[in-house]
Amino acid sequence: MFAKKLLLLAAAAAFCAQLPAMALETHQTPAVQTQAENEEYELDTTTFHMGTVVQLKIFGKTPEETKRFAQLIDDEVARFDDMMSVHKETPLNNVNKHAGEKVEVTPEIAEMTIEALKIADMTDSAFEPMIGPLVNLWKIGFGGDKVPSDEAIQEAIRRVDHRHVKVTEDNGRWFMQIGADQNVDMGAIAKGYIGQKLAEKLKAQGAKHALLDLGGNIVAMGEKYPGTPWRIGLQSPDKTRGAYFAVVSANDENVITSGAYERNFEKNGHRYGHILSPVTGRPVATDISSVTIVDKNGAKADALCTGIFAMGWERAEAFLKAHPDVHAVLLRDNLKEALVSEALRDKIQTYDPEVSFRFVKQ
Ligand code: ADP
Ligand code: MG
Repeated sequence: MFAKKLLLLAAAAAFCAQLPAMALETHQTPAVQTQAENEEYELDTTTFHMGTVVQLKIFGKTPEETKRFAQLIDDEVARFDDMMSVHKETPLNNVNKHAGEKVEVTPEIAEMTIEALKIADMTDSAFEPMIGPLVNLWKIGFGGDKVPSDEAIQEAIRRVDHRHVKVTEDNGRWFMQIGADQNVDMGAIAKGYIGQKLAEKLKAQGAKHALLDLGGNIVAMGEKYPGTPWRIGLQSPDKTRGAYFAVVSANDENVITSGAYERNFEKNGHRYGHILSPVTGRPVATDISSVTIVDKNGAKADALCTGIFAMGWERAEAFLKAHPDVHAVLLRDNLKEALVSEALRDKIQTYDPEVSFRFVKQ
């Protein structure tokens, strides 16, 4: 297949967070163009939405179609921003504003919440969507630089429990109700959910393949070329951006990574990360450096990444053994050991000779 580069739009990426995983930027153009009808156009864009760098690689049969696909994604991202942003009045924020009451939500919020509750059960609240009171107390990544008092932590812990959340449907309308002093935080699942929805929308409009990168949450839609999957590099945390310890192949899958090297603050020689434990009320002390999940379900992959990261190495390994449907790559904080689901054996290529890879039977 022959891909013509259409345009390079590098817009508004004011700052670039360090991304744990990113798509390999290879633009191979086969020497021979075999069939005219195979010709396609590529459009690469970088924008900044929802606190996230959004990088898209979109393909269409004509320049017009390619631009139409890009516009479609832009419109969808704006729609999700208006629905789920925490920085303005949105139906999701409304749930927190009216905590304790039954509030109407969109079908998408309901669907994402149902998935979130499922993963919270599955991980014993290592992933906990009602973590809001603790997130708001610590404010890590949002200016927080102090360790809260024990009393404040205990008070917040009491308000964190996803089992109080109700999602109900009535004649096609969806409603959500949380406890009166509770606060929902979809920060660890929304990007994965939205990424997958964007890919579904593109596909429904006739796009054959695309690569969507929402702040390191990657959706590989279709294949790179017919018969050749997309290849997604997993960042070595201690090396320069673009140095990978492994590469995974993906075809109609999400490749989502949570890592320790993003938002955090340091105090008295201790580093406080942005994933919190609903049990201790403090940033989790994990010995995992990064977790990557490969899954057809973007919301599940995103939420599980956060949950497994929080579990720590031993509990994470036991979790993988107990859940054969979860396909993961774990890198330990010593940066020497990696654990890979057996199901990914044919999809992973290892790159770093200093890392020893162990496959786990599930
Ligand atoms: P990133 O967006 O950096 O990739 P994650 O997907 O792991 O990170 O989500 C992190 C966000 O999730 C935090 O900023 C916070 O809002 C929220 N969060 C923190 N701890 C938890 C937890 N234990 N379960 C669910 N969400 C959490
Ligand atoms: Mg996540």
